[in-house]
Amino acid sequence: MSDCPNKEKNLKNCTCTYEPCSRKGVCCECIAYHRRNGGRPACLK
Ligand code: SF4
Repeated sequence: MSDCPNKEKNLKNCTCTYEPCSRKGVCCECIAYHRRNGGRPACLK
């Protein structure tokens, strides 16, 4: 997960405040996770 080439750039625009999340900055993982759980990432609320 940490080898995402866009991670640093994504983190600059990330509005999520849940600090311990390992998906932060890896938007594809983030969206897939919330979608699986019937929700949306923090930045889409
Ligand atoms: S929105 Fe959810 S999956 Fe994405 S970084 Fe925040 S807690 Fe993690």
